[in-house]
Amino acid sequence: TSNMAKSKFEYVRSFETDDTCLRNCYIVVRLDGRNFHKFAAQHNFTKPNDNRALGLMTRSARSVMEELEDIVISYGQSDEFSFVFKRTSTWFKRRASKLMTHVASQFSSSYVFYWKEFFGEQPLLYPPGFDGRVVLYPSNRNLRDYLSWRQADCHINNLYNTVFWTLVQKGGLTTVQAEDRLKGTLAADKNEILFSDFDINYNNESAQHRKGTALIWEKRDETVTKRMKVPNEEEKDVAVTRSRRRVEAHHCDIIGDQFWEDHPEILED
Ligand code: ATP
Ligand code: ATP
Ligand code: MG
Ligand code: MG
Ligand code: MG
Ligand code: MG
Repeated sequence: TSNMAKSKFEYVRSFETDDTCLRNCYIVVRLDGRNFHKFAAQHNFTKPNDNRALGLMTRSARSVMEELEDIVISYGQSDEFSFVFKRTSTWFKRRASKLMTHVASQFSSSYVFYWKEFFGEQPLLYPPGFDGRVVLYPSNRNLRDYLSWRQADCHINNLYNTVFWTLVQKGGLTTVQAEDRLKGTLAADKNEILFSDFDINYNNESAQHRKGTALIWEKRDETVTKRMKVPNEEEKDVAVTRSRRRVEAHHCDIIGDQFWEDHPEILED
């Protein structure tokens, strides 16, 4: 602006490096909680899955999608969340550091802001932090494989954690014994331990825990009643329906084709 005359110090701006994200690529920002192993312990997260913490992560991700522009899908599990900007986005001139820091700070402040909605009177003991990284994916296949990778990670960890904590909580093993018991076991072995020893069918466990959370924009018809005054008539209540865009959560498989066929608007050509 006109009142910002150039000073002799102005040249330092030229030291800034260009971090424009390559055009046509999906821009993915992944956040991960800093030292959440300790954070979970200090805030008495239930093991293996604390639903309050998962709800708060999802609420914070929703805030990121609602407050920032051009995010078409986000996917979260444990203490991480990935946000996908549409490939044609020009938000902040596609500058990686701007996008990543806006996502990270909006997410972190929301995590603190909404804490009470999920943890009630249990106090937040210290300010949590999240790291962020930016990755570009040039094709729909690459992007889907990225999200598949995160969901496969969710599955592997959750299966392990479910058996581990069942052995401890229901089987009376110490954490060291449970770790020993699981050494070298394959997925089939873990399913078998749950089924034979504890009568648990892993597939009946919570979908949110097994699949993580995908957030997408969906159009929903919303009907509200409005009091209307039509000329020469009495005032009356009229039902007005309009289509509203809102963020919806899905706890389903996103590795196969079904989810993408059901929501063709997420991926661009
Ligand atoms: P880093 O700073 O390197 O990310 P970290 O301690 O956060 O270290 P992660 O690999 O990110 O390590 O693992 C996150 C940890 O947070 C999990 O191992 C788990 O103990 C805990 N955690 C996160 N979310 C939940 C939850 N909803 N319920 C229970 N535990 C959780
Ligand atoms: P952007 O998102 O592009 O940064 P902005 O509105 O934050 O937009 P800035 O150039 O960062 O624009 O300017 C910050 C503005 O915030 C100032 O112009 C001023 O109006 C306001 N502001 C910040 N701190 C204070 C303060 N301590 N007291 C009064 N106003 C403040
Ligand atoms: Mg980590
Ligand atoms: Mg972490
Ligand atoms: Mg993590
Ligand atoms: Mg500013």
